[in-house]
Amino acid sequence: MEERGMSREEIESLLHEKKRKDIAYDKILSSMCTYPHEIAAYAHRMFLESNLGDPGLFPGTKEMEDEAIRMIGALLGNEHAYGYISTGGTESNIQAIHAIRNRKRREGLKDMNIIVPETAHFSFDKIADILSIEVRKAALDEELRMDVNSLEELIDDKTICVVGIAGTTEFGQIDPIKKISEIALEKNIFLHVDAAFGGFVIPFLDEKYEFDFSLDGVSSISIDPHKMGMSTIPAGCILFREESYLNELAVSTPYLTTKEQCSLIGTRSGASAVATFSVLKYLGREGLREIVGECMRLTRMLVRGARKIGISPVIEPVMNLVTLSVEEVEKVANALEGKGWRVSVTRVPKALRLVIMPHVKEETVKKFLEDLKDVV
Ligand SMILES: *Cc1c(COP(=O)(O)O)cnc(C)c1O
Repeated sequence: MEERGMSREEIESLLHEKKRKDIAYDKILSSMCTYPHEIAAYAHRMFLESNLGDPGLFPGTKEMEDEAIRMIGALLGNEHAYGYISTGGTESNIQAIHAIRNRKRREGLKDMNIIVPETAHFSFDKIADILSIEVRKAALDEELRMDVNSLEELIDDKTICVVGIAGTTEFGQIDPIKKISEIALEKNIFLHVDAAFGGFVIPFLDEKYEFDFSLDGVSSISIDPHKMGMSTIPAGCILFREESYLNELAVSTPYLTTKEQCSLIGTRSGASAVATFSVLKYLGREGLREIVGECMRLTRMLVRGARKIGISPVIEPVMNLVTLSVEEVEKVANALEGKGWRVSVTRVPKALRLVIMPHVKEETVKKFLEDLKDVV
């Protein structure tokens, strides 16, 4: 830091200069984030200083967080779920496993393990590290869903949690949550559903999938308002069916307005919680359904166009995420980047990965297909 500060004008021009280096979302097909809805941005700005780490000072903000939790819970089959607006899917996943780990540790269990599918998000590698827990990976079936036979083989008396994914990060696939829920109930194991991406998509698809609290075996769910919920960053959400699991996370907070805190982080953004509340109130289910409907229309258009140039999807898209089997995929991805696109590549099987977020327009898909045809 310099001794003397810069002028307001200098800072502004510096910010504009740096902003130009950032990539606009318009040609980004690799990210699960998007422009926040205008109403979310408005609400976020209005509550910038609000700290939900000390909610007694911000009771208005807290009311909106509680209402957001109720709305999201209702969307996921349980308006009496317990939880909070987190910083994202990573924190939500950590806290779900953290809660059941604490419960089982109190009961005296040691050397615990959890089981996730091979497609699990890398946040579970962080969980293995931070919570010192073994993370076992179940094999997939041909459609890249968790293979329940493999799951059953991996379960032993140290298994404290099974994780099913409703909308995998790489392929947009939905694990057979109903079957997994039955296994979890039968073996009395905690089931966490990672719907960070899919939570705001699956309820609005034409095809119906059971994945939420309407299944008795589901104990907790992660869902990210900052992905398909059109909120500002950072906004995730962790929900538990039973309050007692949230209480496993509580630490006492002696000098704050409330006695306890369950979030992983201390000072946390009231702004993005309010943004989440606002955008859900504004759009309603109707508005969200419309957004998902348009993303799915463009997803199907992209797949049809790809097929016309001889490229097939790895799986028939379930959500607004397309993976294409192309030869020498890294080369293709690089060539597309040369044309200004941002795309990504999956691990196994290798494929070109394209996320059709709400910033993607019909024109974008057409232009992309032209460039893809050129490149292959
Ligand atoms: C994005 C994602 C996460 C991680 O969420 P962050 O908000 O990036 O922390 C976890 N699980 C799934 C399935 C995801 O798609």
